[in-house]
Amino acid sequence: MEYKKSGSKMKYGILGLRNKKKSLVKLGTAIGMAAALFYPTVNNNNNSMGASMVPLEVRLEGEIGSFPIIIPTIKYGFAIDTFQIEEGKIQKNQTLGALLSGMGMDLLSIETLVKNSKDVFNINRNFRAGKDYTILLDRNTGKPKHLILEPSVFEYIVFNLQDELNVQKVEREVDTQLKAVKGEIASTLWAALSENNVDSEAAAKMEDALECYVDFSHTKEGDKFKLLFEERKINGKSVGSGQLYAVNYQRDGKDYYAFWFDDGVTKGFYDVEGTSAKKGFLKSPLKYSRISSKFNPRRFHPILKTVRPHLGTDYAAPTGTPIYSVGEGVVEEVAYTKGNGKFVKIRHDKMYQTQYLHMSRYAKGIRRGTKVAQGQVIGYVGSTGLATGPHVCFRFWKNGKQVNHLREKLPQSKKMAKDKIEEFYKLRDNYLMMMEKEGLINDSKFQHHIGSSNEEIGGAAP
Ligand SMILES: [Zn+2]
Repeated sequence: MEYKKSGSKMKYGILGLRNKKKSLVKLGTAIGMAAALFYPTVNNNNNSMGASMVPLEVRLEGEIGSFPIIIPTIKYGFAIDTFQIEEGKIQKNQTLGALLSGMGMDLLSIETLVKNSKDVFNINRNFRAGKDYTILLDRNTGKPKHLILEPSVFEYIVFNLQDELNVQKVEREVDTQLKAVKGEIASTLWAALSENNVDSEAAAKMEDALECYVDFSHTKEGDKFKLLFEERKINGKSVGSGQLYAVNYQRDGKDYYAFWFDDGVTKGFYDVEGTSAKKGFLKSPLKYSRISSKFNPRRFHPILKTVRPHLGTDYAAPTGTPIYSVGEGVVEEVAYTKGNGKFVKIRHDKMYQTQYLHMSRYAKGIRRGTKVAQGQVIGYVGSTGLATGPHVCFRFWKNGKQVNHLREKLPQSKKMAKDKIEEFYKLRDNYLMMMEKEGLINDSKFQHHIGSSNEEIGGAAP
């Protein structure tokens, strides 16, 4: 038995026909049965598979002779070849109502449809200019039957324009696979990452995981990295990365590691020894910045033109750059003064407070009493108050006095609890082993046990 192309519109892939060869041999003695195999996912009741089918595309040949089989294109759950298809982009200022009435729908039906969409689809937020839409029309009558919108690659929305006038959201199945990547920096980190098909999300996670150890604004030629992360795919196409599980970064002969651990209670990146990658405090409140003025009790003030102690560290960055809380804490002050401009002060514990001056604006939700996490955005760089240009003046308070945070021996980060450390070591060793590989890792066993204490984790990929 063999398959022959009878046109350029072969659609093997979508139906996984190649994989079905065997079952076809068993079952495919009657066209009806074979056809049944080809329509497994058609989910709508309005399709008529009769006279309006597209030309035949595949011919089965075998002991019982040769006969044609119709292979429809399944998209959005419909055999869309059975419809007339209209595709377009939502125009500027076009409303869903306008689109639908332009297709000849009456107002009452539109109203019902919009009402029925409420729990499924936020029209105001997701019906936006520039987004694609697809309309499936009845081939015989030309009447619109379904409107399909795709708010994201992860889902599509089907508006059924007749009968029940209902709206369905269909989430696409996302396959995840472990992927290991190795690279070396020849020019920039970003170039090296994209050469290895690492997307910006995985890159950002790597920076987060190692931010206490590696200054990524000064990557060097010869730096090496290894990453182990989840690759997410829809219909075989990559739609970006998911969780980062492990990272190794090498610079000047030194190895830095971070491993993801999550057992539902303890969650985060840990180094080789099981020490949390989140230090007591971040090194700086900005991600990419330069120190424009150091802590200096005897500084000559650039605006006041007198010797005035500078009891903070200035980090210059463009207006609007996010400012992060360097540690967990509670917002103590959100205020404006002539000198400080807009500022936020955070209490971390009995001993330490931090303060961030000259903000252009505060982050949403930041007010007195707000709990903040380490690395949470609390405001944005500006030049309010006495400032020559956009920067954040970062002030570090210890027992009520301002000190140079770069000279302080700050509290150490937490080590993994004793009763979990063995579990962590096991996981870490697996991660290390997998990071040595390259490309996709087919280890379904591992995938099920990520973050769990299961002994079976050890299975090496073939
Ligand atoms: Zn300053």
